[in-house]
Amino acid sequence: MPDIVYLNGKFMPIEEAHVPVLDRGFIFGDGVYEVVPVYSRRAFRLAEHLRRLQYSLDKIRITNPHSDAEWAALIAEIVKRHDGEDQSIYFQVTRGVAKRDHAFPKGIKPTVFMMSNPLVTPSPAVVESGVACISAVDYRWLNCDIKSVSLLGNCMLRQLSADVGATETILFRDGKLTEASSSNVFIVKDSVVLTPPKDHLVLPGITYDVVLEIARAREFEVEVRGVTEGEVRSADEIWLTSSTKEVLAVTTLDGKPVGDGKPGPLFRRMHALYQQFKQEHMRAAA
Ligand code: PMP
Repeated sequence: MPDIVYLNGKFMPIEEAHVPVLDRGFIFGDGVYEVVPVYSRRAFRLAEHLRRLQYSLDKIRITNPHSDAEWAALIAEIVKRHDGEDQSIYFQVTRGVAKRDHAFPKGIKPTVFMMSNPLVTPSPAVVESGVACISAVDYRWLNCDIKSVSLLGNCMLRQLSADVGATETILFRDGKLTEASSSNVFIVKDSVVLTPPKDHLVLPGITYDVVLEIARAREFEVEVRGVTEGEVRSADEIWLTSSTKEVLAVTTLDGKPVGDGKPGPLFRRMHALYQQFKQEHMRAAA
């Protein structure tokens, strides 16, 4: 079965999908994207992902080329054209093709690209063991709330952890936790779940919202506020959240154990509740 992707109005084998070299996505990284997890062939939290797409597009002044209903239909079609029950749907909108000039050109058509990859969530063994992370100074720009395809900072920071075989790079800016190179971060201290607020320094994660929603509904003690580097380094638990990692425990940070070096009790409870939440969501969508 050839891998079918969507480009500017057509589904085609990936080998046939070509973008002109003057696409501003290629030249400037001028575009935004989304990644929607699909479980049992149904998109999870689609409305929220489409809302965030609209937010990113508004911020960089690209008119959304599709209505939510059109996006939903495109996603349903690409899911249909792939075998897997669980898929990760990537789609991006770039400003389009124009002679190279920094200012936004007028009257060009955005380039729309969508692909599906198998959704690989952490294995039970990894959930059980937790993962290693390192930390670094967050030197990215001040618009981290935009889900931009310009990910050079994120890629460079992620590579630091890849270099030492760690799963993520946890980031601090001016002595405060922001997020990780491709995940949001929660900590637990004295049974309180802490995470930084959604501002311009972090990506407003869809999984972040789900975890907070579950935590509040199940009466975890939650504080959304600035979290200091010291609080992270002395945390009882650290969690990563993202659409593909779901909720994952960090068991070492910069080579030192987090808490007792094992996924903690609140993580275990949250992980189970997250799985349950997904199941219920899928049943409701059926
Ligand atoms: N922060 C960053 C920098 C990300 O790239 C991502 C997505 N991979 C997240 C947080 C988590 O967002 P979501 O839960 O919507 O996947």
